[in-house]
Amino acid sequence: MNPDIIIIGAGASGLMASIFAVSQGASVFLLDKNTKTGKKLRITGKGRCNLTNNCEPREIISNIAGDGRFLNSALAAFPPAEVMRFFEENGLPLKTERGKRVFPLSDNANDVADLLERLCRKEHVQVRQGEVSGISVRDGAVRGIKLQNGFLACSACIVCTGGLSYPLTGSTGDGYRFAKSLGHTVTELRPSLVPLESPDACCARLQGLTLKNVQLRVYEDEQLLCKEQGELLFTHFGVSGPLVLSASARMRRFGEVKYRIEIDLKPALDENTLDQRILRDLKKHQNKELHNALYELVPHALVPELLRLCDAPEHLQANAVTKEIRKKLIQALKAFPIAISGTRPYAEAIVTSGGIKTKEIDPRSMQSKLVRGLFFAGEVLDLDAYTGGFNLQIAWSTGRLAGISAGQYCRNIKTE
Ligand SMILES: Cc1cc2nc3c(=O)[nH]c(=O)nc-3n(C[C@H](O)[C@H](O)[C@H](O)COP(=O)(O)OP(=O)(O)OC[C@H]3O[C@@H](n4cnc5c(N)ncnc54)[C@H](O)[C@@H]3O)c2cc1C
Repeated sequence: MNPDIIIIGAGASGLMASIFAVSQGASVFLLDKNTKTGKKLRITGKGRCNLTNNCEPREIISNIAGDGRFLNSALAAFPPAEVMRFFEENGLPLKTERGKRVFPLSDNANDVADLLERLCRKEHVQVRQGEVSGISVRDGAVRGIKLQNGFLACSACIVCTGGLSYPLTGSTGDGYRFAKSLGHTVTELRPSLVPLESPDACCARLQGLTLKNVQLRVYEDEQLLCKEQGELLFTHFGVSGPLVLSASARMRRFGEVKYRIEIDLKPALDENTLDQRILRDLKKHQNKELHNALYELVPHALVPELLRLCDAPEHLQANAVTKEIRKKLIQALKAFPIAISGTRPYAEAIVTSGGIKTKEIDPRSMQSKLVRGLFFAGEVLDLDAYTGGFNLQIAWSTGRLAGISAGQYCRNIKTE
């Protein structure tokens, strides 16, 4: 028998949407091109799944890169506290870590996906493998979906196909194509929460070096765009690590503007204190070459890069360091410069920024304003957030609302 609702994509938002759609008495097919549900969900949070952030809805909204106000209704109905209650009441104990990040107590992302799949099956959601190739619309309303080898009729369809990032998990942008073919606008797409590429050869030389407790400053056309303290990693192509991923979400104008970053290697020391510290080290190592005096201050690999930046002559003795060189050294330590040429590709991006224009979707139901019976949830929407569990919170809240609304829509058209 044909279902009332077909949900395309068994990721975070699709699984949640299914559970709430059946709660409205609708029959539901949940289709995914993968044989296993939640392929991406299972690798989130380095396999631990940072499933939400234990904060108020307004804090979630302030952590969304674009117009987060679209989420007011979805978040009010299913805020982080309710998401946590949902998982715990269904048998998944949680814990809250630094930065209010919430994880399953088991530290296992599979437990999150398995629980959602179990709930779907318990509620008689038909979970099936199948790759959807299009959505069929007649007289302004959804009539069914097209599969590679056939057609399935339904009264409503929820597009939960995710973005373009980590395409090996199944998110290859199909939902954008479906939406466009039905008249929706897809805003500019680009990788976000993604490592950054640099033309500077020093990054490759420093490959593998992790810097903890440094401050990263990002400049957009010489204007300070953001600064944050944390951990950064050098790679063969540029820079990565938590600080860089977070910053990338704010760097939204590649191609239009120039970006560069500065790393403050000693954010806890002001320039005077740092100078005193350098003078002490120079005195301690006065009969050695300058580089020996710097090994206690920074990781060994950084020393040649700092010497290069302060134009120190080779084999300069510590006791011959001039005030001028000290000044340049402080500058290099407080603002280690790296040019940025772009981001890494979607394959390495945690999320996709951009998506289906939210103005074309009713925020109280997640239903399309253009096609009746067409709903959207999750990353396919033009919504992306910083790190901290916010992106999954978007998937849960929009998935639940789309599921309930699609269920109600089917009930209404049956009674019409
Ligand atoms: C490595 C990594 C770690 C992450 N860690 C976190 C974290 O800890 N916390 C956090 O909040 N966010 C995290 N994210 C982001 C988060 O995983 C996503 O924002 C979220 O999974 C989006 O959910 P979704 O349901 O919209 O899409 P997805 O989870 O991408 O699911 C989409 C599903 O749709 C299916 N699909 C697509 N097209 C079709 C089609 N044509 N037919 C049938 N099925 C189709 C795909 O196979 C896929 O299963 C992480 C992302 C990555 C890549």
